[in-house]
Amino acid sequence: MNTEAIYEYLERIANLIRTDVRKTGIGSGLQPIHLEALHYLSRCNRYSNTPIAVAEFLGLTKGTVSQTLGVLEANGLIEKQTDTRDRRVVHLNLTPLGEQVIAESIPPQVIRSAMTALSPSEDEAVIEALRLILRRLQQANGLKSFAACKTCRHHLIEQDGARRCGLTSESLTDIDAEKICREHEPPSKLKLG
Ligand code: SF4
Repeated sequence: MNTEAIYEYLERIANLIRTDVRKTGIGSGLQPIHLEALHYLSRCNRYSNTPIAVAEFLGLTKGTVSQTLGVLEANGLIEKQTDTRDRRVVHLNLTPLGEQVIAESIPPQVIRSAMTALSPSEDEAVIEALRLILRRLQQANGLKSFAACKTCRHHLIEQDGARRCGLTSESLTDIDAEKICREHEPPSKLKLG
């Protein structure tokens, strides 16, 4: 097994991306961690836009996530909304300015320019390889999958074509189906090894 080579590729790719994200954030006074949290909040569903979910997704401590979210709120990029059913729960929504910052910064330029040179079959092969690495990392380390709702074992398509979450019994839209979820569970476990 070539674990060292895989690690070196992933480390180099992560460094290149982070350097580019850092450059992008300088204009708006944001660090990569701020943009990563903002990007997560732009992609997650209504069950997952809470401070604890941001901390889980990014692997941050409670203190760090609180500082990060404070910076996003102070810059007018997110706003808090108290849950209508449980007032102890706070949801974090992107403001129009937050949406604009994400549209302009993510994906970073280094990825945009490199990936346009890929053929459709190379594009698919890259995505498949990265998906496999991510799933194996998550499974081997007992991490949540945080994947798109439409790939979850609880995602139900009813006879009339309507979507529903089997866990909460709530209706889901086509937009919800593309979002990532803290409660996501893959349909079946990949065999490791
Ligand atoms: S179907 Fe799965 S991913 Fe979608 S909202 Fe329900 S628990 Fe989350």
